[in-house]
Amino acid sequence: MQDDEAFRREIRDWLAANLTDDVRGAGGPGRENEAFPQRLAFARRLAAAGWTTLAWPVAHGGRGASLTQQVIFHEEYAKAAAPSRVDHIGTTMVGPTLMDHGTPAQQRRFLPALAAVDELWCQGYSEPGAGSDLAGVTTRARLDGDHWVLTGQKVWTSLAHVADWCFVLARTEPVPDGGPRHRGLSYLLVPMRQPGVTVRPIRQLTGDSEFNEVFFDDARTEAGLVVGRPGDGWKVAMATLAYERGAATVGQQIGFQRDLDDLVALARRTGAATDPLLRERLTRAWIDLTVLRSHTLRSLSAPQPPPGNPSVVKLLWTRWRQGLGELAMDVLATGGDDRDAERWHRLFLFSRADTVYGGSNEIQRGIIAERVLGLPRQARR
Ligand SMILES: Cc1cc2nc3c(=O)[nH]c(=O)nc-3n(C[C@H](O)[C@H](O)[C@H](O)COP(=O)(O)OP(=O)(O)OC[C@H]3O[C@@H](n4cnc5c(N)ncnc54)[C@H](O)[C@@H]3O)c2cc1C
Repeated sequence: MQDDEAFRREIRDWLAANLTDDVRGAGGPGRENEAFPQRLAFARRLAAAGWTTLAWPVAHGGRGASLTQQVIFHEEYAKAAAPSRVDHIGTTMVGPTLMDHGTPAQQRRFLPALAAVDELWCQGYSEPGAGSDLAGVTTRARLDGDHWVLTGQKVWTSLAHVADWCFVLARTEPVPDGGPRHRGLSYLLVPMRQPGVTVRPIRQLTGDSEFNEVFFDDARTEAGLVVGRPGDGWKVAMATLAYERGAATVGQQIGFQRDLDDLVALARRTGAATDPLLRERLTRAWIDLTVLRSHTLRSLSAPQPPPGNPSVVKLLWTRWRQGLGELAMDVLATGGDDRDAERWHRLFLFSRADTVYGGSNEIQRGIIAERVLGLPRQARR
C-alpha cells in the first residue's frame, strides 16, 4: 500500500497539472448546471487517471484505497477548488450497488462505463405521493416478453436532463394483503434516452433547473436489468442510500470552510465585522464548523460509527449551512456588490433544500428517536 504522504503528493501534483481555470470552483449544490460540459470533460480526465474509482475494490477495476487515502483525496480535491463532480450518482451510488447486488452480467455491462464516466445516472425514487414515505411509490413495471414496461411519474429527479440511465424504484407486484408495502417493489435500470421517457425541468427558487419531473409512458428496459430479485428492490434501494456519503463529507466541509472564510472577508469589507452581533454569529459559525469537522473525522476513524451517525451528521451540517445562508443575508445587508449578492443569495436560497433532500430533518430525527433512543414507533399510514 502506498504511503499516505506520497499519495497526497500524487493527487496534489495531478491536480496542479490538470485543473484548469474553466472548471475551478465550478458546480455544487444550487450550481449543478455551471460549466457542465467542461466539468464532464474534467471528470473523464479524472477517470482516465483512476481517481473516480479510488474507493472501488481492485477486483472491480478500482484502486482499493484505504479510508485515510479517500479522506486525503477529498481534502486535496476541495482545497484545490476542483469542480463539483458530475459523476457522483454513478460512481458513489450505482457502482457500489451493482458490486454488492448486481449480477456478473450487470457488472460487466455497467461498471466500466461508470468508471470511465461514459454514462451518467439519475435516481428515480421520489414521486408526487411518495417522498419520505417512499414505500408508497406507484410507478408500475410489468414484464412483457423480455422487457419491463414502466408507467408512472417520478419527481425531483436531479440531473435527469443529462442522465443516460436512471435507477428506478417501481412496483412490480401488488401490495401483499395486509403485508408490508415495501414488498413487491423492484429496482430497475432504465435507459433515459427512449421515446417512453419525458423529462420536464422544474424551475427552482434560484431560477435554475437542476431537478426534473420524469414521466414513464410505456418506457422499456430489458428483463435482465432488475437488480436483486424482482419484488425485493427495497433492500437494494436502501443499500444505495447507505453508500451516498462517507469520506466525501470531508471535502464538503472544506467547501463550507471556504464559504465561511469568504463571508468573513465580505464582513471585513462591508464593516459588518465590527457589528457586535454579526461578529458573534461569525465566530459561532466557525466554532460549530470546527465541531462538525472534528466529529466527522472522529466517526470516520472509529471502528464502529456512533449509533445514528449518518442522521446526526445530516442534521448538523444542514443546520450549519442554512445558518450560514441566513447570516450571509444579514452581512450582505451591510454592503457588497452584485457578484456578492448573486453568490450569497444563491447559497441562501438553495440551502433551504438541504433539510429536505436525502431524508428530511424530521425523518432524521425520527430515525434517532426510534433507533437510538428506542422511543415508540410513530403511527404509520
Ligand atoms: C434539491 C433536491 C434534490 C432531490 N433529488 C432527488 C433525486 O435525484 N431523486 C429522488 O428520487 N428524489 C430527489 N429529491 C426528493 C427528496 O428525496 C424528497 O423531497 C424527500 O424525500 C422528501 O419527500 P417529499 O418532498 O415528498 O416531502 P414529504 O415526504 O411529503 O414531506 C413533507 C414534509 O412532511 C414531513 N414529514 C413527512 N413524513 C414525516 C414523518 N413521518 N414524521 C415527521 N415529519 C414528516 C417532512 O419532513 C417534510 O417537512 C430531491 C429533493 C431536493 C429538495
